[in-house]
Amino acid sequence: MADEHRRKRYREWAKSPFGTMPFPEECRGMTCGAKTRKGTPCKLTSLYGSGRCKLHGGMSTGAKTPEGKARQLEGYRRWQEKRRQTTSKTE
Ligand SMILES: [Zn+2]
Repeated sequence: MADEHRRKRYREWAKSPFGTMPFPEECRGMTCGAKTRKGTPCKLTSLYGSGRCKLHGGMSTGAKTPEGKARQLEGYRRWQEKRRQTTSKTE
């Protein structure tokens, strides 16, 4: 796949310290290309280092370690607790 090759070049460029590698000409105007819910390729060109846009792999997908997940859950519980307090006041 020519597109896979392009994405690989893009990732290599994104991984390298800024300025050490010239931007690959073939990657100019490269689109995200991820399959959308409509089944059409994503046309966003603002890509992250992963070679995908913010909707398709640019952002964090959440905690991966058990500690991270516990931390996330704790924050959620705290938020829930806070919400319960504020809603009970308004009633
Ligand atoms: Zn996308």
